[in-house]
Parts: sequence; structure tokens; C-alpha cells
Amino acid sequence: MITYDGHVHTPFCPHGSSDSLESYVEAAIQLGYKGMTFAEHAPLPATFCDPVPAQDSAMTFSKLNHYLEEVKLLKEQYQRHFTIRIGLEVDYIEGFEEETRSFLNEVGPFLDDAILSVHFIRLADRYICMDYSPESFKECVLELGSVEAVYDCYFETVLKSIHANLGFHKPERIGHVTLVRKFQKQFPATFPYINKLKPIFAEMKKRNLSLDINGAGVKKPLCEESYPPVEIEKLVSEYQIHCIYGSDAHAASQLASGAAIVQPFFRSK
Ligand SMILES: [Zn+2]
Ligand SMILES: [Zn+2]
Repeated sequence: MITYDGHVHTPFCPHGSSDSLESYVEAAIQLGYKGMTFAEHAPLPATFCDPVPAQDSAMTFSKLNHYLEEVKLLKEQYQRHFTIRIGLEVDYIEGFEEETRSFLNEVGPFLDDAILSVHFIRLADRYICMDYSPESFKECVLELGSVEAVYDCYFETVLKSIHANLGFHKPERIGHVTLVRKFQKQFPATFPYINKLKPIFAEMKKRNLSLDINGAGVKKPLCEESYPPVEIEKLVSEYQIHCIYGSDAHAASQLASGAAIVQPFFRSK
């Protein structure tokens, strides 16, 4: 039974909707939820150049304090009826560990929760936002040589994020671990990929990290499955990974995305 949404975006997201923080909370209460984590995209490292055309992958640094204050106010306002955690979705970008660590050292004391996610992968001479569009995914395939090579690169980057020294405030939840399948209907996996997740889950278990069971992919026409998909549930329970549902909503109407489909991850929990 899902009663908590651990991955909700806000009007502070430059590529999301302008729905107010209150509208998310009210919609979640209507759904019968007991709480949520606002996990806005944390500002990218200052020396990292956002590779997407509008450079709108994350909140700008100048909005961070306002975001933290607004969520804190709402948290206090609703504290009797509804749990609100102040969070961020932090990008792991290979090669920017030091900057990410110092950012987390600074902002960590103001957070209740955080997610560590990979959206950007490092190619030979540049970074690409792998999940930005089918075209950006195709660029990865062309440069790395095959769809399987993109999977391997994505999973290796996730594994590096788990190993990375990001300091005392390193997030304890791994975001959308199979985001590499966002365009799987156009770029099918013609190879078995489930075993490729084993080193990730083994390391997560060792470090007691939890897993974002992210419903956003269910509504993406080229994906139509959660991240990770339900077929991974057996492996997740074998490794005894703690699961937290996340709608990854970028609009209040997107709350509960995929929630019905991901139920198997929350059986008897
Ligand atoms: Zn987003
Ligand atoms: Zn994400």
C-alpha cells in the first residue's frame, strides 16, 4: 500500500509546471497519502555546462534558498495532517564529485531527504543528458556503439554514484535506476539486462541505500513501465532493498503516476 510519495517536483523546476506547492499537497491528501518529499532538481555544479538546449535541467542556484524556505513553511503549516520532507534530487555527474560533495556539505543540514540520480553520462569529450529525448539517446548509441553499450555505461555510472565519496550528507536513495529504458520501445534491449543490475543492488544493500520506485515512465509512450520495471521486483526483494515510491510528478495531476503498477514492490510492506 503506497501512502508516501518520495519524489515530487515543484514550480522551482524550470522544465516542469507552475503548479503551486500547495496544489501538490492538496492533491496528495485527496489521494489518501500521508506524506511526500519535495525533491527538486538540485542546482548543477557551477562549472558544469548543462548540455540540453534550453539549459533547464535543474533549478538555478539563485532559487535554492527560496525553495528551501517555501518548502519549510509548508512543512510547518501541514505538520499536523501531512508529513512534508524537504529534499532534493541531486545529480551524480562523473568528474564533478568534489563540487557535488561541497554542495551537499553546504545544503545537507537543511534537508530531510534526498535522491541521487544519474541523467548525464560522460562520453569521450562531452556529457549528454541521456534521457532528454530519443535523439539524445540515439547520440549515445551512435557514440558508444550499441544500445547494450548505453545500458552498460548508464549502469556503470549509477554504480560509480554509489561508490562516490559525496560526504556526510550523501543522499541515501538511488533515483530511477533503469532510466536508460525511457525510450525502450524505440531502442529495444535485445540482450538480457536484469543481471547487469546485480552489482548495483549488492552495493546498495551493503550501504543500506533505498531505491526510488519511480512511476513516471509508465506514462511515457516509448517506455510504458516503471523505473525499475515490475519484472525486477524479484531481484530487488532478493537483495532486500528498501523501496520508496516516487511519482516524479512535475505537475500536481501527475501524482500517483504508475502507483497501481508498482504495487508488487510494496507487497507485505
Ligand atoms: Zn525534471
Ligand atoms: Zn530524475
